[in-house]
Order: sequence, then C-alpha cells, then structure tokens
Amino acid sequence: MLYLDNSATTKIHPEVLEAILPYLQEEYGNPSSKFYSLAENAKKAVATAREQVAQLLGCDPDEVVFTSGATESNNMIIKGVADYYSHKNNSSKYLLTSSAEHPSVIETVEFLGERGYKKKFLDVDTFARVNVQNVTETVTKIQPLLTSFMWGNNEIGSLNPISELSEFFEANNFFFHTDATQVIGKVPVNLRKHSGIRFLSMSAHKIGGPKGIGAAIIRKQSKEIFTRLTPLLHGGGQENNYRSGTLAVHNIVGLGKAAELASQNVENNAKRLAQLENYLVDILKGNFGDRIAFNSDIRDKIPGLISLQFIGVNNELLLKKLSNFMALSSGSACSSSKPSHVLSAAGKSLEEVRQTIRITLSADISTEELDLFREFK
Ligand code: PMP
Repeated sequence: MLYLDNSATTKIHPEVLEAILPYLQEEYGNPSSKFYSLAENAKKAVATAREQVAQLLGCDPDEVVFTSGATESNNMIIKGVADYYSHKNNSSKYLLTSSAEHPSVIETVEFLGERGYKKKFLDVDTFARVNVQNVTETVTKIQPLLTSFMWGNNEIGSLNPISELSEFFEANNFFFHTDATQVIGKVPVNLRKHSGIRFLSMSAHKIGGPKGIGAAIIRKQSKEIFTRLTPLLHGGGQENNYRSGTLAVHNIVGLGKAAELASQNVENNAKRLAQLENYLVDILKGNFGDRIAFNSDIRDKIPGLISLQFIGVNNELLLKKLSNFMALSSGSACSSSKPSHVLSAAGKSLEEVRQTIRITLSADISTEELDLFREFK
C-alpha cells in the first residue's frame, strides 16, 4: 500500500528503532535513581536526547521539557501560562490565537474561556495564515497574556509569517507560542534566530520517531519578563518541575534520534519533498485538468503537503474507494469526524470542504510509486 498520510504520522525510522530497543530491554533503569550503572545509563541517554532536540531547534538543553506529544505541549503551555499569571496583579486575562489552529490549541483556549479568561480567535486569509498587521494591531489593543499561532498548518500546509511575528513579539515583549509540529524536519527551525518565540510545541511521531513523546520548549531569556508556568503534572519534580513522572526513556531516546536525523536531513528532505510534490502535481494536473482545484499557496508552504479538491467528488467516498491501495486523508487525523474548521476558516464552502483530500508525502517515496496516480483519470 502506498502511504501518503505522513502528516498524520510517519513510520519509525530504522535507526530510531535501533536506538530505542536497548531501553526496552536490558537498559531499564530509572533516570531519577542514583549511582548504579542502570540508572546512570538511563540518565545519560536522556541527557543526550535532550541535547539532540536542543540542537534541532536551536535552544538550550534545559529549555526542553519532554511531554507525551504536541497535544500535551500545547495544553501545558497555554494552561500553564494562563494559570501562573492569573495569580499576578495587573496581568492580562486575554489569550490570542487564530481560527485555523490545531484543536489542541483551540479547545484549550475555549476551555479557559469558560473559566473566565478572555479569548480572541483571529481570522485567517484564504490560505489559513494570520496577517501581521492584524496581529500587531490586535496585540497592541488587547495586550494578551499569551499568543499562539502555528508555524505551519497541518491541513493545507501554509506557513505563517513566523520571522515577522517573532520580531514583533520580541520587540514588544509579549509571550508568543508556536505549534511547530508539522514543520520540523521540513523547514529549518532555529529559535536563536527567532528569539521572539518563547514557547514551541513538537511531536516525535511526525518525524520518524515513536508515538507518545514530544517536547515543549520553554525559553528562559527575556529582557523584562521571566518565563513561568504552572506545571501540568505535580509530583516528583522531573523536567524542571514542569512535568513530574518517571521519564519514558525509550521514547525519549527515540525522539532524540529522530531529532538528530531531522536536523541532519532537513535541507535534503525539503528539496526531495518539493521535487516529489511537483512531480505529483504535474501528473494530477495532466490527468484531471480543471476537475481539480488546489487549496494551498504553492509559493510558501510545507513541502510535500498537497491539499486539493476533486470537484463534485465526495472525499470520504473517494478515500474509502482508494483505501485498499492508498492511504490518504480528508484533512487531518485529529478532527476527521467534523468538516474541517481550517478550510472553513480559510473561506471554503462546505461543498469545497467535502471534496478536499490531503496527500502528504515522505522523502523516501519514489517517483515510480507516484506513477500509480497516472492510472486515475
Ligand atoms: N499540532 C499539530 C499542528 C498537529 O498536526 C498535531 C498532530 N496531528 C498535533 C498538534 C498533535 O500532536 P500529537 O499527536 O503529538 O499530540
């Protein structure tokens, strides 16, 4: 079967699997224990993984907090900042985000709205991106406690104007969080160059790592405000006190290895994905002409993610029909039962949403495999 749903998840990279296995077998020590070699080995493995993630993202190792994935990172950061600063006098009660974010951001902000916080969901353009001027005007007006905009969109692949946003948030000293889950390994990410990003979320299983592990990056430095947040999990004080609980060493090692590979391969990966995408788009255009319409902005996007409509064809029926030999998606794996809120926010009608499919490539697919599409007319 041709797997073309790599934004939903990826297969484990063989080197990641190899790195993980000893920590599910003989190296079973608890990294919080002391002195004996099993514990020290586990501790070293976790420290190495922390460095690998820090290297990938351009931050310090002690700014990396291991979580169960990006859903948890998003929840931890938004709820944690909201809670911590709610106890401070003169603190803003506003949370700012956009209507095209992942459900783990939108639902968290909605939840906090029910708990007395103020919330604002910015409109997005036809490619689900926020507008910098709109952001700066809104931030200046409502002075939010935290703003969260994703780096790249999981449904249509658009990239938000992260450099400009980062500059603005740094210059004005507001907290800015970005969900970078879909761009890691495909777009260069360097937090030292984007020091306006105070918080970042990522997940291992989108980059050839295991499921159930990710990271919340919590940057320390600031001109005026210290970064503080209430822990998501209270207990033994692991992960700088932000997330207690015995560390999942095997998963952390897997994330570390996947991060190392992603940082080594990001340029080649991006090039290869763009090449495969062009190859496939040419086939699709040749075969279907004006019976298809593309949802993504072709200039500035996550390479390898194609969101398109087959005019007049119901996406669910099409996916079912193809499911024996091809794995595709109607938008995202996270909210597949509801019509896409991202496409709706980008101005698509319900009819357009219902005829949209998402194809997400991986760099190891061959053009010969994509030739399968030539058979569909
Ligand atoms: N954010 C984005 C942009 C995503 O695409 C996903 C995964 N679909 C998540 C967050 C959630 O990641 P995880 O599966 O690690 O919880």
